[in-house]
Amino acid sequence: MKENAKSKLSENYREAKHRASQQKLQPKSSGSGDILISVVVPLYNEEQSIKELANSIESVLNRIAKNRYEVIFVDDGSTDASLEKIKELHNKNQRFHCISFRRNYGKSSALQVGFAAAKGKYVITMDADLQDDPEEIPNLIKKLNEGYDLVSGWKKKRNDPITKILPSKLFNLVTSIVSGIRLHDFNCGLKAYRNVVVRRLKVYGEMHRYIPVLAYWDGFRVTEVPVRHHPRKYGKTKFGAGRFVKGFLDLLTVMITTRFMQRPLHFFGFIGVLISFFGFAVNLYLFIEWLLGKTYLTNRPLLLFGITLIIFGAQLISIGLLGEMNIKSLAERINYNIREKF
Ligand code: UDP
Ligand code: MG
Repeated sequence: MKENAKSKLSENYREAKHRASQQKLQPKSSGSGDILISVVVPLYNEEQSIKELANSIESVLNRIAKNRYEVIFVDDGSTDASLEKIKELHNKNQRFHCISFRRNYGKSSALQVGFAAAKGKYVITMDADLQDDPEEIPNLIKKLNEGYDLVSGWKKKRNDPITKILPSKLFNLVTSIVSGIRLHDFNCGLKAYRNVVVRRLKVYGEMHRYIPVLAYWDGFRVTEVPVRHHPRKYGKTKFGAGRFVKGFLDLLTVMITTRFMQRPLHFFGFIGVLISFFGFAVNLYLFIEWLLGKTYLTNRPLLLFGITLIIFGAQLISIGLLGEMNIKSLAERINYNIREKF
């Protein structure tokens, strides 16, 4: 019995090793294969929408890509019958694939895994809840062919509750100002990419909201086109009100890891110098009053405020310097995005 288990184990081991060596043999996809369009669909408990969605994706892709397409569903740990629905699709059309997580990791993780698997020259992402319209895919690709690397959908007429539209407007405005990209809608599920973009993107946590920012600061040409947007037909949204607070925190992460990644002192130091300077000015004012005999410093709480600002500013500058030491030690790992080499 024990022997049996042992031989079974070594058999499993041999099989896994064989599979690993096979995988190594397969060329890494570079987007140049015979697949023209990969559609990546992250989904979490969307059993009611899947079939309808698949039908409309299929009809569009048959038209514009013949049989040179693939659809990759990334099942983000659904607990409903989503996986079974996708299996049915796969049995009918082998161009439908699925990667299924054992648990719910979040939309960003689902996208990242879908990106890694996408072989197409063009990669399209869209939500599974029928809010995004596959009929827009040709428009997005047309725009890519005008010389862009990423085209983001813009839900110009948005079909969502007002409680979501208003905060989202604010979110987009702030992101646009802070990131320096003039887009109206950063977080539309419907986007089109050249393959090279998804090879370089690294989305994790909830960073999917900032994909256009990440790509833009990596040197890619990013734009948007208006797209049709439908109300959610089945099920409910998977993101609550907390999305906006988290979203703004993530914006800080995005800025520090893109724009300021190689010069952290410019971020922390700039704010630090401003704050310290303000503190210094406050205390200078008090000092002059004291010199002129107008006041005792003991009864001026403003003094403490000034000192606090100076200390806080100095701390920010130190944090920036620590960041600089960090980046210098990692300098050889900086990954430059190269367009061409001759
Ligand atoms: N989604 C996912 N994992 C999650 C949450 C959402 O894959 O943890 C998918 C979801 O199934 C849908 C897409 O991400 O296909 C967008 O989600 P949702 O429609 O809930 O977002 P909203 O439209 O409300 O912004
Ligand atoms: Mg939705």
